Amino acid sequence: MRPSLSYLLSYSVLGVVAASSDDTASTCQALASALPEYVFYPETDTYNASITSYPFIQLRLTPNCIVRPKSAQDVSTTVKILRDTGCTKFAIKGGGHNANVGYNNIEDGVTIDMQSLNAVEVLPNVARVGGGALWQNVYDAVEPHNVSVLGGRIGVVGVPGFLTGGGIAFFSPERGWSCDYVVNFQVVLASGEIVNANSTARPDLFAALKGGQNNFGIVTRFDLKTFPQGPIWGGRTAYAPEAATDLVQGFTEFKSGEYDPYAAGWTTFRYNGSTREVTPITILWYTKPELAPGGLGPLTSVTPKQAGPPMQVAYAGEFARNASRSVKASNSNTIWATTTFRISPTIVGKIYAKWRELVPQLCDIYAYANPASELTFQSLAPPPGFGSHPNSLGFAADSTPHKDLVFLQIIFYFTDSSASEGFNNALKEFIKAFDDLAEEEGVKHNFVYLNFAAWFQDPLSGYGKEQLKKLKRVSKRYDPRGFFQEQLGEGFKIFKRNGWGNWNHH
Ligand SMILES: Cc1cc2nc3c(=O)[nH]c(=O)nc-3n(C[C@H](O)[C@H](O)[C@H](O)COP(=O)(O)OP(=O)(O)OC[C@H]3O[C@@H](n4cnc5c(N)ncnc54)[C@H](O)[C@@H]3O)c2cc1C
Repeated sequence: MRPSLSYLLSYSVLGVVAASSDDTASTCQALASALPEYVFYPETDTYNASITSYPFIQLRLTPNCIVRPKSAQDVSTTVKILRDTGCTKFAIKGGGHNANVGYNNIEDGVTIDMQSLNAVEVLPNVARVGGGALWQNVYDAVEPHNVSVLGGRIGVVGVPGFLTGGGIAFFSPERGWSCDYVVNFQVVLASGEIVNANSTARPDLFAALKGGQNNFGIVTRFDLKTFPQGPIWGGRTAYAPEAATDLVQGFTEFKSGEYDPYAAGWTTFRYNGSTREVTPITILWYTKPELAPGGLGPLTSVTPKQAGPPMQVAYAGEFARNASRSVKASNSNTIWATTTFRISPTIVGKIYAKWRELVPQLCDIYAYANPASELTFQSLAPPPGFGSHPNSLGFAADSTPHKDLVFLQIIFYFTDSSASEGFNNALKEFIKAFDDLAEEEGVKHNFVYLNFAAWFQDPLSGYGKEQLKKLKRVSKRYDPRGFFQEQLGEGFKIFKRNGWGNWNHH
C-alpha cells in the first residue's frame, strides 16, 4: 500500500525537480542494456520479491525499475548511468530496515537493491562483508571460526545502513560503536571510481563514512575487525503490567550504578491499543556469561515476570536469529524517532509517565488503525579512545557517553496507512514533550542517533558544528557536483536542499 500524496508532500519527497517518467524509463533502459541480467521491472517475480522484502509496509514503494548489482563494478556502472542522466532519482536499499519513507526505496525512480552483494569472506582477524549483507550472513560465516564482530542484534537488519549510521552491538559496552571496527570501506564514488577508505588511504572519507551514511558513495564492501568470542548470556523477559514502575526504577539504577562493560541490551514498554495494557520487556545480554548478571542486577531482579523461556547461554548469532523471527516482513506501518538525555534519578520516570499519559489518547483517536507503541531506553556506545581512528559521531576520546547518556526510541505501529499523517505528527509531538522534560531538568543532549532518527530530525547537526564542517568538506571533495545530495532521493543530507535547486546549508 502506498502513502497518500499529502503524506509524501509532508516528507518533501516531491520538493526537488524530478525527472519525468520518460527520463526515468530511458534511464532504466540504459541500465538494462548495460546490466541485462540485473535490472527488474514491475510485476516480475524478482521485482516483487525485492519490494515485499521491506519489513514495514510504508517502505514498499514502487520504483520504475530495480537494479540488483552483483559486484562493485556493477555498482560503478549503475552510478555512471544515473549520474549521466543528470536527473533520475534513485534510492539505495541495504537491509531495508530504515523506517523513513523514501530512504531506502523510491516511487518514480530507480532503486539499487544491494542484496546480491552479500558474500562474507573470513580471513585472519578480518571479515570481508559485501555491501548488501544482513547481519545473520555475517554471524553465520564468522562464528564457526570462534570469532565475532560488532554487528546488529537482530539478524535480518542490514550491514550497510547499520554501520554507516554508527551501530550498537552486543559487545558495544565493552568495545564501542560497530563502525569503529570497520578497518576498510570499499566505496563507489560519484565518479564511478571504486576506491578504498581506511586509516591510510582517504582517512577523511574513512571517518566520514562512520556516521555520515549515504552522503559520499555506495559502500560495496566492509572489512570488519574480528575478535575471539565464545557464547554470551541473555534473553528476553516480559513482565506483568504492574512491574512497569519498578522497571523504570531498575533501569535508572542500572544506568546510575557502576559502569559494567559486559552489560548490554534495552528496556522497553509496549502499549497495546486494543487491550490498553502496557507490557514491560527487557532484552538483555551479559557478554561474560560466568559473571552474569553483573551490572544488569537492577533489571533482572524486577518482578513479577511473565512465564517465558529462561535466560540462555548461546552465541551472538543464535540470539540474532531468534530475534529475527518476530521482525520479518510485517503488515504494519512502523515509524520511529529518538532523542538523547543524561541519566538523572528522575528523568526516565518522567518520560515514561508522559508517554503513559499521551499514548492511550493517541491510540484511542486512531483505534481503527490497530495501533501499538513502544518506548525503549538504552545506552550509547563508548567513543573511540585516544589514538584510535576517529568516527564522525562527535564524542571526544575522553568523553563518557556510554556511562552518562541514554537514548530512547519511540515507535508507533499501525496497520491502516490512512493514519500515517496523524502518527507522524504525533511522533514529533512526543519527541518535543520528552525533550521539554529533559530541558526542564537540564539533562537534554544534542546527539540524535541516526539509525533511529525520524525524517524530521537532524542527526548530522547533532554531531556538532566541527563534525558537520568536516562532513561538508569530505562531500565536496569526493562528490563535487553533489550527485549524492541531489539525485539520491531521500536520507539525512549534509547539504539540505531548499527546493529551488540551490544548496541550502544547515
Ligand atoms: C528490527 C530492527 C533491529 C535493529 N537493531 C539495531 C541494533 O541492534 N543496533 C543499532 O544500532 N541499530 C539497530 N537498528 C537500526 C538499524 O541500524 C537501522 O535501521 C539501519 O538503517 C539498518 O540498516 P539497513 O542496511 O537495513 O538499512 P537500509 O534501510 O537499507 O538503509 C539505511 C540507509 O543507508 C543507506 N545505504 C544502504 N546501503 C548502503 C550502501 N551500501 N552504501 C551507502 N549507503 C547505503 C540507504 O541509502 C539508507 O538511507 C535496528 C532496526 C530494526 C528495524
